[in-house]
Amino acid sequence: MILLEEAQKIVNEVPVRTKTETVPLDKAGERILAQDIISPINMPPFNKSAMDGYAVISGDPSERFKVIETIPAGKFPQKKVHQGECAKVMTGGIVPDEADRVIMREMTEEKNGYILVTGRETNKNICTAGEDIKKGDKILAKGIKIRPQEVGVIASMGLNKVTVYIKPRVGLVSTGSELVPPGERISQSQIYDSNSYSLSAQIKRAGVRLVDRRMVLDDPDKIKKTVRDLMERCDVLLVSGGVSMGDFDYVPYVLKKLGFTLHFEKVAIKPGKPTVFGTKGSQTVFGVPGNPVSTFVVFELFIRPFLLRLMGYAYEPLHISGVLKESIQRTKTGRAFFIPVEYREGFIKKLPYHGSAHMHALTLANALLCIPKGVKELRQGKKVHVRQI
Ligand code: AMP
Ligand code: MG
Repeated sequence: MILLEEAQKIVNEVPVRTKTETVPLDKAGERILAQDIISPINMPPFNKSAMDGYAVISGDPSERFKVIETIPAGKFPQKKVHQGECAKVMTGGIVPDEADRVIMREMTEEKNGYILVTGRETNKNICTAGEDIKKGDKILAKGIKIRPQEVGVIASMGLNKVTVYIKPRVGLVSTGSELVPPGERISQSQIYDSNSYSLSAQIKRAGVRLVDRRMVLDDPDKIKKTVRDLMERCDVLLVSGGVSMGDFDYVPYVLKKLGFTLHFEKVAIKPGKPTVFGTKGSQTVFGVPGNPVSTFVVFELFIRPFLLRLMGYAYEPLHISGVLKESIQRTKTGRAFFIPVEYREGFIKKLPYHGSAHMHALTLANALLCIPKGVKELRQGKKVHVRQI
């Protein structure tokens, strides 16, 4: 059995080969950027009016200004502004070169082709050329996730395509002779296969591609056939169940038979002790214990960071700090213990939790608290970091 940190280091350091593709900007949201974005233009491209108003030469002491033309957004000024003159300009319109101030329309009165300034205001109301972005500036760095605001800034620079990392192809196998797909009838001895669904949702949330998912009996030949079949179409395989000490836990055996090198088969975490991690060439497999909370936690600790690394994304889980509302004790301290908690307004509250089959506890939780290996008690009032889920 190895420590959590050692296991994470192994997963984080396994060499991976990332691949890229160029996609239309409309398809780039939530993808990971695989190029630096250098701006080909200044933003704004010209001195732009920030208001509907009148462009004047600042310091012009005139009492009234002759309106010499109207400049809508999208059109060039046709005339020069002199003292005693102004150009009526709309928000987004070009401010004539000679002018350096736009008086808001609300501060003026227009009559017979002249304006009178009726209010006082010191703002220049001009966005100067290149003040947001300069041509040649590095605007976005390779490796970030493209959120709607990044999509917007890329479009604003006139780019309609970007290079992103290719999504890894993931295959999912749920093993267990007791499993029945939701929607079907079950007998008293069976249970619904929830892991296929929770893992699919986690895969989707990680932004990678779920190629196929299968349910298979606890039969080594059937597991082998299914895994081999999925390996032909996937970069990463997740196998749920069948990884611990039971008579019918064949997964590690089958993976070795298929030529995978297993880098670890036991990690000092609770839940999730019999987690398996293996590689074969550029393919990777994770075997996760079948209890639903174990499956969920192992995905968060190991699988999500790995899938994101395959897409060139250095993922940092979101940790929030809060104060423990009550003390948490345990008797055995040999493993890092993850428990579902509720974080609210700076406090961390323990939730009823009966162990790794108790998926419902996770639905009430918004974070996981880790009691480190060797620690018996976390005292009420202690400041701790929890991992958002
Ligand atoms: P295993 O890891 O195969 O020893 O299974 C541990 C526990 O998790 C058992 O109670 C299984 O019935 C349960 N389990 C295994 N696979 C699933 C699954 N896909 N969905 C829900 N529970 C499961
Ligand atoms: Mg099983």
